[in-house]
Amino acid sequence: MSKAQDLFGTLRSFDLGNGRQGTLYALPQLEKSGIGPVSRLPVSIRLVLESVLRNCDGKRVSEQNVRALANWKPTAPRTEEIPFVVARIVLQDFTGVPLLVDLAAMRSALVRLGKNPKMIEPLVPVDLVVDHSVQVDYAGTPDAMSRNLELEFTRNRERYQFLKWGMQAFETFKVVPPGIGIVHQVNLEYLAKGVWSCPSTFNDQPSTLFYPDTLVGTDSHTTMINGLGIVGWGVGGIEAEAGMLGQPVYFLTPDVVGVHLTGALQEGVTATDLALTVTQTLRKAKVVGKFVEFFGPGAAALPVVDRATVANMAPEYGATMGFFPIDGECVRFLRATGRSEDHCRIYENYYRAQGLFGMPKQGEIQYSVELALDLATVVPSVAGPKRPQDRIELPNLKREFQAAFTRPVNESGFGRTLEELGKSFLVTANVGVHAGGGSQEPLMRGEAQAHNTNPLTELEMANNRPTPDRGVAPEGGHGGHIRHGSVLIAAITSCTNTSNPSVMLAAGLLAKKAVERGLQVNPLVKASLAPGSRVVSDYLERTGLQEYLDQLGFNLVGYGCTTCIGNSGPLPAAVDEAIGKYDLIAASVLSGNRNFEARVHQSIKANFLMSPPLVVAFALAGRVDIDLSREPIGKGKDGQNVYLKDIWPTLQEVRDLMQSALTPAVFRQLYRDFAGQNPKWNEIKTGAGNEYQWDATSTYIQEPPFFQKFGLQPGEIREIEGARALGIFGDSVTTDHISPAGSIKKSAPAGRYLTERGVPVEEFNSYGSRRGNDQVMTRGTFANVRIKNLMVPGTEGGVTRCFASKACECAPGEQASIYDAAMAYQKEGTPLVVIAGQEYGTGSSRDWAAKGTALLGVKAVVAQSFERIHRSNLVGMGVLPLQFKEGTSARTLKLDGTEKFDVLGLGQGLKPQQDLTLRLTRASGQVETVPVSCRIDTPIEVDYYQHGGILPFVLRQLVAGQGAGSGASTRA
Ligand code: SF4
Repeated sequence: MSKAQDLFGTLRSFDLGNGRQGTLYALPQLEKSGIGPVSRLPVSIRLVLESVLRNCDGKRVSEQNVRALANWKPTAPRTEEIPFVVARIVLQDFTGVPLLVDLAAMRSALVRLGKNPKMIEPLVPVDLVVDHSVQVDYAGTPDAMSRNLELEFTRNRERYQFLKWGMQAFETFKVVPPGIGIVHQVNLEYLAKGVWSCPSTFNDQPSTLFYPDTLVGTDSHTTMINGLGIVGWGVGGIEAEAGMLGQPVYFLTPDVVGVHLTGALQEGVTATDLALTVTQTLRKAKVVGKFVEFFGPGAAALPVVDRATVANMAPEYGATMGFFPIDGECVRFLRATGRSEDHCRIYENYYRAQGLFGMPKQGEIQYSVELALDLATVVPSVAGPKRPQDRIELPNLKREFQAAFTRPVNESGFGRTLEELGKSFLVTANVGVHAGGGSQEPLMRGEAQAHNTNPLTELEMANNRPTPDRGVAPEGGHGGHIRHGSVLIAAITSCTNTSNPSVMLAAGLLAKKAVERGLQVNPLVKASLAPGSRVVSDYLERTGLQEYLDQLGFNLVGYGCTTCIGNSGPLPAAVDEAIGKYDLIAASVLSGNRNFEARVHQSIKANFLMSPPLVVAFALAGRVDIDLSREPIGKGKDGQNVYLKDIWPTLQEVRDLMQSALTPAVFRQLYRDFAGQNPKWNEIKTGAGNEYQWDATSTYIQEPPFFQKFGLQPGEIREIEGARALGIFGDSVTTDHISPAGSIKKSAPAGRYLTERGVPVEEFNSYGSRRGNDQVMTRGTFANVRIKNLMVPGTEGGVTRCFASKACECAPGEQASIYDAAMAYQKEGTPLVVIAGQEYGTGSSRDWAAKGTALLGVKAVVAQSFERIHRSNLVGMGVLPLQFKEGTSARTLKLDGTEKFDVLGLGQGLKPQQDLTLRLTRASGQVETVPVSCRIDTPIEVDYYQHGGILPFVLRQLVAGQGAGSGASTRA
């Protein structure tokens, strides 16, 4: 039990119900004491303020931080950073494994120093959900789910062994094993409490302190939880690690955009349509980096599951959060999903006592900007073919696809001619993706050719032949015509929608009506159903709807991200070959939230996001160039045309089934004893002990070098002298350019590394799954096949010019891989810099983009501007971010990589945001000096930089016995 600090005198007791009392840091008390007009602040800001107030200790969080946030102004300049101590952290496996590797490495460093490894222990609860690794290798069969799970365990056994070691080694680290669900849906249905508590004192008596559920997650769609009135968003792994070790997550004070919702969704319109409409509207309103808060009667009338669908797409509209305030709907949702009566009462009483219960009305809160949306104006929509914000009203899809088909590539089109659009191609193949559709051999990613047991028996061009309505399979074969616009993947996927029973039941009802009318899906369409929790299967089975989805090929393939993250698995070889041979613009339809090229499947260029019932409808139609509001979806068994309106479920039909869908007992039963319900997970053997026994032969898990030569004293900040450029890049270099997540090329440095260790190409897996191995990831840094290094004009991929003459036999300036050049520079002790244009490090937050940069030996990145999280990740890894002054760039300086660079001014008591000097020595010997801004932005970042990064800083704090933060008041 810890004594609660109370620098502002706001600790108060409140009624828990049943005659009991709890304590809280009362926000209304701040206003009564004249600290700030708290009751007028956006709800999301007040929830952050509670954390700042509760953790105000005069060190990590200062009194000034509390005062500043209590006086948040809707339109002030945003210069202050907020130190936000979160209640808990969620992880998914792609990002969680490397994070656990770092914690294990910190423990190893402590053991080498003769210290207790248990000093490294998360101070807040950490939950990792294994959801990103399942792939749709099997689909359309009753056993697809079990076979995909089997393959997942085969491929990922080493990673899962490591996770199981972590579960027993860390007290507050829990794992939801594979086959249970998707992190954000599991969070919504099970992990989220809404309010947390810990033992404390009040008036020198033992008491229980209550505080809001807040979190960060290492996945951008963490914002789904905003639908339940919980503050949380996605951060990089480095920030999350620091957060779990007691460091606040720092973020710039945000603008808050209020969206006033009125009206109600109309018949035929789904929550997905609303989410796509909000995405398009808010993208236009430029909400990047801002909080969005929905309010008003329309928001109040939306159930939590609809709010969650809208909140989940916050990264697509660019906001930090898409937040819905706390009200009676939240209590109803908590109760319906099996949270106890007692907990629901405390939850409601807590937020009432804080003045935070109830959906705000217009005029009650001051927002930076107010937007309005009448829900009655939302219409059935899809989004695509390349961006989630490009919403298309359903009747316009045919026209829009045709327009995109002929639009130039640089205008988001496909650059084709209308004549090409009419051509179709006959694929006769034993497709093997649907029940009764042929072979059940696995279609392995990267092995499709080698293991193809369904060879192309006929593939002929059928120019200008009439295409059958739904590409009906020809006699004696399982195939049909495909053409531009053919639907080849139809996936009910993504937590965005699978967490919402209304759209999942609508998909089932539509399937039922379609089957009853005699409609079928062509086996060429790879259909799949991958819910984000087993609750979905429970209600689809209980309502009898799964049977109809099965009949259309939408068999269960797994509980995980699948197609949403690009794990859509291979297409039948014959289909893939046809796409390649005829350069087809084939389509996918999916209930996901991202559709940029190559995200869904390498071969599918047009990707349309839509609600689950529309996914089923387009699978039936077999093509996207169709106006489903007027054209028939197909012919029924009676020979009559069947239209979408004939099989679309009514709102009442969906509501009737909803009553039986959400039963608390089912949630309680399915969310207990994961291990007992998962024999495969139980079979995995794991190491014991607090220290991880690294296996030098593992190609998945390696001890990273970050702490291998760890000393208790930080080094001094020194000038960077005699550096060489490793790369000179243009604008908008993304974190995926810097650290790709996808496949590993055999000829790339990482591919060579794996080959040398006896890993066959088909077992390379992806960079994303090998983030626990720094050797692979360092070799993969800047290895994206599309990255363009301006030092080697006309090339693509991770190449540079190497001037490391002392450690290399090549001629100075010869072309080399970035990794090989970096290693040669390291051998001769030459520091490196990277030069870049605008928005360096844009895209998903990816800590390996900073880690890999550091491990290549890059000491500074000089860019025209930085993406916010990547800049902070660079500092977090001890890499210096420098910014050119306005008007200066690699181009204006005529840099070509032959120069040497010095960074001067670092050794004189570095201050945040101070000016420094970049000195260039050109090949001719000419010397120039260029002023640059140091983008170490805050005093704490100076400490991180001096210590060589945030993790060494935290580790030294712990060893020095100061602790990285008490964490006491936030420990559950
Ligand atoms: S289903 Fe999609 S949005 Fe949800 S966590 Fe997985 S990849 Fe992210």
